[in-house]
Amino acid sequence: MSDTPIHSKTASTVRSDDAEMRTRKVINRCNGCGHCRELMVDTSCLFMPQLYRLVDREQAGGAPISSAEMKQLLDLCNTCGICPCTPVHTWIREAKDAFVGREGLPPGLRLIENVQLMGRLGGALPRLANLALGNGTVAKGLKRVIGIHPERKLPLFPQDSFTAWAKARGLMHMPKTGGRKVAYFAGCTARYYFPEVAKATVEVLQRNGVAVYLPEQKCCGMPTMLEGDREFTFDLARFNVAELARCVSAGFDIVCSCPTCGYLLKSVLREGAQFSEEYRALVQQLAHQAKGDFDQVSARLAAEDAAFTGRANTASTHGRNASMLSLTQWKMFSDQGYFAGIGGANRLRVANHTYDLGEYLWELHEAGQLKLELGAVPAQVAYFAPCHQRQQDIGQPWVNLLGLVPEAQTERIGDAFDCCGLGGIMGFKKDFHETSLTIGTRLTDKIKAAAPGRVATDCLSCRLQFQQMLPYEVFHPVEILREAYRNFLTKTSANVSER
Ligand code: SF4
Ligand code: SF4
Repeated sequence: MSDTPIHSKTASTVRSDDAEMRTRKVINRCNGCGHCRELMVDTSCLFMPQLYRLVDREQAGGAPISSAEMKQLLDLCNTCGICPCTPVHTWIREAKDAFVGREGLPPGLRLIENVQLMGRLGGALPRLANLALGNGTVAKGLKRVIGIHPERKLPLFPQDSFTAWAKARGLMHMPKTGGRKVAYFAGCTARYYFPEVAKATVEVLQRNGVAVYLPEQKCCGMPTMLEGDREFTFDLARFNVAELARCVSAGFDIVCSCPTCGYLLKSVLREGAQFSEEYRALVQQLAHQAKGDFDQVSARLAAEDAAFTGRANTASTHGRNASMLSLTQWKMFSDQGYFAGIGGANRLRVANHTYDLGEYLWELHEAGQLKLELGAVPAQVAYFAPCHQRQQDIGQPWVNLLGLVPEAQTERIGDAFDCCGLGGIMGFKKDFHETSLTIGTRLTDKIKAAAPGRVATDCLSCRLQFQQMLPYEVFHPVEILREAYRNFLTKTSANVSER
């Protein structure tokens, strides 16, 4: 049945119409509720308007929604998270998974969804790879074979490797220090396509006295999750959760410069984890020890959440903080999160200790620990807060941080309903390219109207989409912050040599 969590199914218990039943569950819920019928008008979401078009046709006596239409409908959702219901996000992903589980993925898509493998292959021989990508005929042939839209610009491979740079600086060894220390989850785009962003992250953190460790890591899993490749996504997530939980146990905060990685580690992993069997057993044990005094249990749970580093990052829990539930509520729920197949305790450990880079730096500033020796960066900057950063409920840390940079005039562009439209690798696919541009136009029109000197966004997928659609140079805000730190040093040393 479609109500059964997909993780508990075996091949022999999966019904042949499981994918359709799961899609129908989403359609029924959203049609019954109807909230997104109005809410998603004039937003970048293409999924909800199409859902209502299909259901209206069916209810008016037209053709029932076919299996092919359901699959196309699911393809329109790029997990931007703008619509308000977490369970609906999970059900959409599970319906996608069910289609892919039954019908498989085309080989070309299997290749491009593996962002890490593509990055490693191209990064091994960047000159050769770039020569091939720069050759019109070869690039056209490659795109056709792999299933990439002919008009989609492909990122070039950088000549230098972030991994080699990090190794040379000893970042792969866990530092034994007592002060602030972070395990940096760089994500595939910064590691393999934009190493300057990863280097700027390390430089800015170190400049502020934070020890940086680069743990073993794989792709966060968002691109494969968006494609419905459940098995691969879970392989990636299992590896990352085990490795990052080990870092937390050693006293490290986890920091992400990519908001999509951060959203997955903080929010998607967290979904349902406090109702996992492991966590429920802990609650029962604490309740027994506290003789049913739930205030005591809450305090112990909060201490458990903050274990190892002395604090827990509870942003993006949307009021579902474990310590806020009553014992009765604990008994009513079960782990229905997308990653319910992975142990709840480690999922929570990772989610509770993961920070967006901007969030982490702004927190340093609020604690009076951010170095403010910043030189001028005279530029008019249009900053876009990407969907997955907005979903983390962390305010506007990058707008605040860029506001500290002398002569940088930063304007926030885009509202709560704007999305660049790339959706991981979805915008690269020949069938989604045009849709992706349609989604992004609402936002890029606003950026063009602001006519900025530069565009800044922390999401490197947005950066690729902006490079496709806009004529402006695009930066991660941490690159602007690094520029300000470097400009200060240059000015100071120039003043010294003039004396
Ligand atoms: S996503 Fe949530 S709020 Fe939107 S229509 Fe569906 S059930 Fe209602
Ligand atoms: S997650 Fe985004 S694209 Fe998907 S249904 Fe919700 S608003 Fe639409």
